[in-house]
Amino acid sequence: MLYSELFASALKKLDRNEMATAVEVLIESSFAINRSQFWMGRNQTIRDANGLRRFRRAFARLLAGEPLAYILGKKEFYGETFAVSPAVLIPRPETELLVEKALELLGQRPARILDIGSGSGCIAITLARLTRSHVVALEKSRPALRVLKRNIERFGVQSRVRPLAGDLYPGRAAAFRMIVANPPYLSRQDWLEAPREIRLHEPKTALVSGRAGTEILARIIAGAPRFLEPGSHLLLEIGQGQRRALCGFLKAAGLRELECVRDYAGIERVVVAQME
Ligand code: GLN
Repeated sequence: MLYSELFASALKKLDRNEMATAVEVLIESSFAINRSQFWMGRNQTIRDANGLRRFRRAFARLLAGEPLAYILGKKEFYGETFAVSPAVLIPRPETELLVEKALELLGQRPARILDIGSGSGCIAITLARLTRSHVVALEKSRPALRVLKRNIERFGVQSRVRPLAGDLYPGRAAAFRMIVANPPYLSRQDWLEAPREIRLHEPKTALVSGRAGTEILARIIAGAPRFLEPGSHLLLEIGQGQRRALCGFLKAAGLRELECVRDYAGIERVVVAQME
């Protein structure tokens, strides 16, 4: 069999041409070849039996609807590759907007930052790498913490990113110049309507907050004043239509909304607030 035949027969089974890239990526990772090797060698006969076995296993998972990132065990975020497993949320491009805003506010000055619900650590590690800041990365799920630690080692930021087991806030009081979070913000109804790929494979606890969707955001905001000095920033990723509720929570906690960033779909997605 030729590589091109393997590619075509896989695509036919998926019967969705938008999966072409995913199939190509799986072939490349299974046979340990890069893009140009795949395209140059696509009319060669496959001789790598182990590669073929690896591809068939991986492809079966794709066929079953598993996200590509979990099959590959990695995902790009802010130009770097993070390890992921089904224990953590797959980093999303929307979250890069939060990182971009955080970097803008931090400038070149290293700061003390708290990342609530760190997951893969994509936010915490990116901020630590690019600003040399010290980040406390809080995560309550044990299996997620293992992925977080793997990424901290992978990027060599052990001295600046401290993984901490815990929910919402550290037990001991501390002052941070910035708190960031991409917390669970889906309502139970949102969850029921989420794509199968998400519902069947991503961790529900990383996505669903409660009946309204804003419960965890509200708790983060209510707890923030104990950990922020006047002038410090709180950056939160939020769900569609949640901004109004958020503004109420912020006001009650003595925080002022500075800005709300829209995502690529035009949805209000990242709230930037400041401690009065
Ligand atoms: N902080 C991680 C991310 O943004 C995980 C977020 C989560 O699990 N809700 O991808």
